[in-house]
Amino acid sequence: MNLKIYLDNNATTKCDEEILNAMLPYLKENFGNPSSLYSFSKEVKDKVTEARKNVAKLLNAKESEIIFTSCASESNMSAIMNAVKNNPTKKHIITTKVEHASIMETMKYFEIQGYEITYLSSDNKGRIDLTELKNSIKKDTLLICVMMANNEIGNLYPINEIGEIARENQILFHCDAVQAVGKVKIDVQDMKIDTLSLSGHKIYAPKGIGVLYVKKGISFTPLIFGHQENNRRGGTENVPYIIGIGKAAEMIIKDDYKSVEKLEMLRNQMEVKIQNGIEDVYFYGDLKNRLPNTTNVAFKGLKGEELLFVLENYEIYVGIGSACNSKNAEPSHVLKAMGIDLSNSSPIRISLGKYNTEEEIDKFVATLSRVVKMLRRRK
Ligand code: PLP
Repeated sequence: MNLKIYLDNNATTKCDEEILNAMLPYLKENFGNPSSLYSFSKEVKDKVTEARKNVAKLLNAKESEIIFTSCASESNMSAIMNAVKNNPTKKHIITTKVEHASIMETMKYFEIQGYEITYLSSDNKGRIDLTELKNSIKKDTLLICVMMANNEIGNLYPINEIGEIARENQILFHCDAVQAVGKVKIDVQDMKIDTLSLSGHKIYAPKGIGVLYVKKGISFTPLIFGHQENNRRGGTENVPYIIGIGKAAEMIIKDDYKSVEKLEMLRNQMEVKIQNGIEDVYFYGDLKNRLPNTTNVAFKGLKGEELLFVLENYEIYVGIGSACNSKNAEPSHVLKAMGIDLSNSSPIRISLGKYNTEEEIDKFVATLSRVVKMLRRRK
């Protein structure tokens, strides 16, 4: 029996058995290189094509617009680098204060290179202001870079409107859709997105596989030169993992977001139970417009880290923001941007996934309630 209660699905998800089984033959007997000319490799090549078709379908993109990468961090960096290369005379980029570290660090790099970066502010619910976005546009703005959904608070950002603004002003629009995919319908054409990033390990495929969508007509300079991926990313294809992310896309299409409704119901029930069972709780983020699986919640007088470590003793796993930040216990840049006072209490992030059950949630809330009371008594 598996006693662990895993509630950190925004950090990573468990690989789905169906996905794993689709991958396994390509780690065993079907090990051919898709570039080889003999028929033994033909099936492998066809499988990569099938995966590309499924990912393209999920995004309403063309197969030729999909590049498989090693992770979404690579996709993000590659997209930003490319926007810069495509606009050698322009020096200004607009992003937000609440992006993932892979975007923030790339922006820092370009700041050091002399580029001007406008970081759109966030209100106390983590929302951005489209008027501020419009007012920030300059003659030499080369890129608008806004995530679809926030990994810490779950907020959904107004991507349709941002796409419209970017297109009207003939500025490239890059969207990090890592947390949104599988939970929110994505249509790169409707949303007027020029480049977009995805990651396999947030949708029940393994870690170490990503996707970069590049709209047809945008010239693309690879980060790694080579003939693979239609000359846009060198390196022998990571065939089993590409098949894995393709299968994940196929499963999302088949499910047609039905399981998302269940996930949202479970999350909402959990929040009611927390609210009713524990005193002085604060829910953060845009509660009316957020991912169906994410809760960011603080308990008066308690730090997220202490809760995380005590819950771990009960084999319950939650997050405290970005997975990459958890170790260094730095205050979250997202919560800081929201102006939240973290001196007395700080939140935990609970992110549900498709394997969580009502029984698990009940056990979790009961344990959380006991832990909060115990920690508060000790203060
Ligand atoms: N963008 C967001 C919003 C994320 O949450 C993550 C991972 O946590 C990434 C990008 C990076 O994804 P990867 O681990 O595939 O590099």
